[in-house]
Amino acid sequence: MSCWKKCPGSPPRWRDDTAPFAQIPPACPHCNGLVRPGVVWCGEALDPDVLDQAEAAADCDVFLTIGTSSVVYPAASFIEQARRNGAFTVEINPEATPASSIADLVLRGPAEVVLPEVDATRSAEL
Ligand SMILES: [Zn+2]
Repeated sequence: MSCWKKCPGSPPRWRDDTAPFAQIPPACPHCNGLVRPGVVWCGEALDPDVLDQAEAAADCDVFLTIGTSSVVYPAASFIEQARRNGAFTVEINPEATPASSIADLVLRGPAEVVLPEVDATRSAEL
């Protein structure tokens, strides 16, 4: 999240895992103004630090790409990067995307359905 007004007291962005939020929409803890989600909207540039973190995350054993069209770069390139790094790649999406042809495993369906099934399977195997 980040402060919509980028008020002087707030960090550039922060993580808030509160669920449900105490108020909707959530407010900036510093100026009580509106906050915006930690996403990149059309026309915005990627934060270089976030891009670095995403590239670092592609250096992993298992890489999941979930609920994305896989057509917007550079985000669409992370599955390719993860494969080059030797990761087992999984795509979870209701529809085929360009990532479908390179993923090691494709789980077709909406994330809210597929992820609980994956979790239940994993829990049963432990
Ligand atoms: Zn603020």
